[in-house]
Amino acid sequence: MKPNEIKIFCPATIANISCGFDVLGVALDSVGDEMVVRKTSEKGIRITKLQGQDLPMETLKNVAGVAGLALLESSDSQYGFEIEIYKNIKAGSGIGSSAASSTGAVWAMNELLDKPFSTIELVKFAMEGERLASGVAHADNVAPALFGGFTLVRSYEPLDIIPIPSPEELFATVIHPQIEVKTSDSRKILKTNITLKDGIKQWGNVGGLVAGLYTNDYDLIGRSLEDHIVEPIRSILIPEFDKVKSEAIASGALGCGISGSGPSIFALSRREKIARKVADSMKEVYKNVGIDYEIHVSKINSSGIKILE
Ligand code: ADP
Repeated sequence: MKPNEIKIFCPATIANISCGFDVLGVALDSVGDEMVVRKTSEKGIRITKLQGQDLPMETLKNVAGVAGLALLESSDSQYGFEIEIYKNIKAGSGIGSSAASSTGAVWAMNELLDKPFSTIELVKFAMEGERLASGVAHADNVAPALFGGFTLVRSYEPLDIIPIPSPEELFATVIHPQIEVKTSDSRKILKTNITLKDGIKQWGNVGGLVAGLYTNDYDLIGRSLEDHIVEPIRSILIPEFDKVKSEAIASGALGCGISGSGPSIFALSRREKIARKVADSMKEVYKNVGIDYEIHVSKINSSGIKILE
């Protein structure tokens, strides 16, 4: 008999990865939420438990509910679902808190319905959750959470997502200064036009990063982790950004930038030992100015959401 309930791990994700605003993202392995999703005879979606964060439990105000309803509207299922959410990722942290819940809901529902939907269809449902969280149905967090590893959103219309392999020795360090930056606010300050000169630099780096990931060329990955468009504007909202970045690079990181819309800052490094050294140098910066932080060091998660025993 198929189970009526599953418990899953929903990974945190780093979106943008410096040069790929709204198109690149990567899933983390040891940072994420847990969810229990249960199939019920009563139709609709109910969030029955929410622990770890103060977030709305009403179906239409929670991204898990909204994404789940988008799936149900496209399905002829006679069932409904109860969802329990155990948050480890803080909302507004910039490491895909909303994406973890919206992808977890639709991924688990698809499993319990015997997989009627493809991964790309699940991405579309989960994007409805992102629309609720930030006002924009972006896919750069939900795609890596569902596909695993790095993903490129080659096109939004039509939606075309390219999973990209991750080099074995790549590790991420993420520091989250304990201030909240809402995705919707950090979008408002962006300019709507870019210069051709900046565009040329940016797409050179996107190509370079993708090539580096495919060929395990860590130096090329490092050279490509540059953002000439968004980082100069958004970094103003993040305390000590320039110092954290320069210390991370001095400690051996391949590159460092803003995770999603911030305030978290990420660095990529070759090997865990360096990623931990980078973590120490980032912590030191915030300790010296008295800013509280959370820090994570994680391998890249190549498979995305997974079932827990
Ligand atoms: P992040 O980039 O860390 O996901 P966002 O600012 O994009 O942060 O999303 C957080 C917003 O989404 C908050 O306004 C929060 O209230 C809302 N939200 C609704 N449901 C959830 C959920 N299940 N998990 C996280 N955030 C949620």
